[in-house]
This record gives sequence, structure tokens and C-alpha cells, in this order.
Amino acid sequence: MPKSVPKIVITGGGFGGLFTALDLAGAGEVTLINDEDHFLFKPMLYEYLSGEVEAWHIAPDCRELLDDKASFIKGQVRSIDLSSQTVQVGERKEPIPYDILVFAPGAVTNYSGVEGAAEFALPFRSLNDAAHLRRRMTEALDRIQPDATPEDTRRALTFAVVGGGASGVELSTKMIDLLRDAVKRRALRGEPRVVIVEMADRLVPGMGEEIRRFVADALAKARVEVHTETRVRRVTETSITLEHNHNATEFQTAGVVWVAGVRPNPLIESLPVERDRRGLIVVEPTLQVRNHPNVFALGDIAFYHDVVPTLAGTAQLALQQAHLCARNIKAFLEGRELKSKHFIELGEAVSLGTEHAAVLSAGKVIGGPLARQARFAMYTARLPTWHHRLRVGASWFFEGTQPRPLQPLGF
Ligand SMILES: Cc1cc2nc3c(=O)[nH]c(=O)nc-3n(C[C@H](O)[C@H](O)[C@H](O)COP(=O)(O)OP(=O)(O)OC[C@H]3O[C@@H](n4cnc5c(N)ncnc54)[C@H](O)[C@@H]3O)c2cc1C
Repeated sequence: MPKSVPKIVITGGGFGGLFTALDLAGAGEVTLINDEDHFLFKPMLYEYLSGEVEAWHIAPDCRELLDDKASFIKGQVRSIDLSSQTVQVGERKEPIPYDILVFAPGAVTNYSGVEGAAEFALPFRSLNDAAHLRRRMTEALDRIQPDATPEDTRRALTFAVVGGGASGVELSTKMIDLLRDAVKRRALRGEPRVVIVEMADRLVPGMGEEIRRFVADALAKARVEVHTETRVRRVTETSITLEHNHNATEFQTAGVVWVAGVRPNPLIESLPVERDRRGLIVVEPTLQVRNHPNVFALGDIAFYHDVVPTLAGTAQLALQQAHLCARNIKAFLEGRELKSKHFIELGEAVSLGTEHAAVLSAGKVIGGPLARQARFAMYTARLPTWHHRLRVGASWFFEGTQPRPLQPLGF
């Protein structure tokens, strides 16, 4: 290790990268590189779509969060050279050198090669994605004439959500509540139609039986249409084609949202490191990348043996790994023994529309508006930094968390 202050470079400012940077304060010269100015608390992106929360609540500025704990570079990491120990960022001429590297660039949407999906389906992973979807819903509403028949309204407001995991459920219930509210406010006749498409034989297979009952009940009450054992064959600008039992059906849509899976960030594809069959970087129990003791990887791009499948690819895991990662980097620099950790499930919380949620905590499941409040409280506690938690908690408590109706564009 160098005698001078060690340079620690973290690529990716999400749950893994940002929380590692915050924990590393004082351990060396820490630099966090992220392609956005802000961190994003993704579990509440649905509430940003519905206007229940504002951007600053869930997407605080990285520089403000880090304060003087670490330097921040806004830029896209283009390549990493493990032999010269440098990171190439954006259009910068000079690569950034490191003594210790942390990989945490997260995952990207996986369209699984479905025809037209990458081109026409909307992803749902960023503030921009949510704003784009909100706009798409508003445009669909704006196209409906005041005297439209119920059938016209239903056709104009048909949206498909591909993927029946927690994301598909949370998204579809928010969307239908927002659309139904807008139909009512505009005194239109008819109902919106939101369809969930899932390849498996059930939704949210990873969740416990009890919480799944709340999910099924909420979907039924919201009249979200569920198509299980169904594949998407094709997406176009205005339609989706589904296949169930070898029968294909095509219908018009105002939008298709793709939350059917992720793959590791392409940034790691060219790295000469060991990967598993899904392309995830194989890490030691200490989070060190195999055969590269000064390189750590965590979050959605890392394969850690001792993790139950339901915890893999979650913020809960990335957050816990970040604390271990920072501890181990400090130990590495001080020549102490590095530790491993058994990561635990911290509970389940699923948003079910703009008024309800279901939360599993300490073995008990609660549902309804109370669970919605509990989910907000739970997530306040998981936001980064005390300062930000206090500001957001106060804002939610005093100003409320009511959804923002879908107003006509230009309103
Ligand atoms: C809509 C949604 C809802 C979710 N809800 C939940 C939930 O309720 N509970 C839960 O546990 N998990 C949830 N997840 C999953 C969770 O968000 C991820 O597992 C978690 O964010 C992984 O953390 P990470 O640090 O690996 O990646 P991320 O948090 O995605 O962070 C990666 C960061 O790297 C940046 N980046 C990417 N490429 C580059 C590059 N080339 N150069 C510089 N920066 C780069 C990205 O912009 C991002 O800021 C949800 C995910 C989504 C999309």
C-alpha cells in the first residue's frame, strides 16, 4: 500500500456506492463517480410517478450528501484498466488513478431480445423514466374527447406493464389509481385498463404467502388485469402482442412499461474478472473481486455466494454490503483481517396504489393506509444521512404525501 494518502475510487453512486462513500469518511482520498448528480432511492420511484413525493425527497444531490466526506465527479465511467489502476471518465483526457477501486454501477433493464421492446417499451429505473411515463399517461388522457364512449376511453387508456414481480405490482396499482382519478376529474365516461404480463404462473413469487394475499386483493380491487403464463412476443409504438398457451393476441396500447428483469451494467462486460453465468462479478465473502484484492464489488453487479435468492438484486442487500465494504477497505488499508457477513432480509414493503400498501415487519403483515404510513416511515429511516432524513421526514409529516393528479399538459 502507498505511504501517501490512499486513493479510493467508487464507480456508481447508488445504494452500494454512495453508502460505501459515506461510511469511508476519513479513510483516504475518496472519490465517488456517478453519471447523475443525484443518488436515487429507487424503492420510492412509484411515489415520484404519482407525485406523492418530490424529486428532492428521493433523489438528493450527491455533493450535498457527501459534504466534505468525499469528492464527487459527475460523469460516465467509460472503462476501467485493472493493470494500470485507472478509470476513464466521460471526455476527460486524464484517467483517474486509484489504489482501491469499488465497483457499484448497478443493473440495467433487460429486454431479453423481445422484438421492439428495447425500442418502444418504457424502462422504469430513473427520475426521467418516471417523468416520461407520467407524460405518456397525461398525453393519452389529453387525446380523449369529452364525449368519448366508455369503450373509447378504455382503448385510449390501455397500458401494459411487463413483469409480475414487486415492481410490476407497485407500478400497475399506482398507474391505475392515477388514471382512474384523472378520468373522474375530467368527467370522462369509462375506465382505464392496466394489464400485467408475467411469464411465470403467479405474481411476486418471492414474497411470503400472507403478503401475497394483500397483493392479490389490491390488484382485484383496483381491477388490474393479470395475465400469467404469458410471454410478450412483440412491442410496437402502439401495440403489444402476447402469447399464452401458443395463442397470440395483439392489442393497442398507449404505453408498455418494461419491469421484467435486469442484467449487469455493460460497463463490467469487458473486465478480465471472474463472472457467474448471468455475468455478475464473483466476489469473495469479503466483497473483494477474485484475484484482485484491491478491487471490491457490490450490489446488483456482484455475485455473493451466501445470499438467499430473494435478497439478491435488492437495495436491502446493496445497503448492507456497503457497510461491510467500507469496513473491509479500512481493514485492508490498516493491514487488519477482512471480515465476511451474513446478510439478512430486513422485511418486505410493497406499495399498492396511492392509498394502500402491505408491509411485513418482524414476522407480521399489515395492509391498508396504515401500512402505507409504515412504509413511508420505514423508508425515511433508510434514506442517506441524518440531515436528509430529518428534512424529508419533516416535509412528509407537515406537508403530507398526497398524489399529484395528472393535469392536462400545459395546464
Ligand atoms: C423502480 C425500482 C424499485 C425498486 N424497489 C426496491 C425495493 O422496494 N426494495 C429493494 O430492496 N430493492 C428495490 N429495488 C432494487 C434496488 O434499487 C437495487 O437493487 C439497488 O439500487 C442496487 O444498488 P446498486 O448500488 O448496485 O445500484 P444502483 O442503486 O442502481 O446504483 C448504481 C449507480 O451507478 C450509476 N452508474 C451506472 N453506470 C454508470 C457509469 N458507467 N458511470 C457512472 N455511474 C454509473 C447509476 O446512475 C446509479 O446511480 C428497486 C429497483 C427499481 C428500479
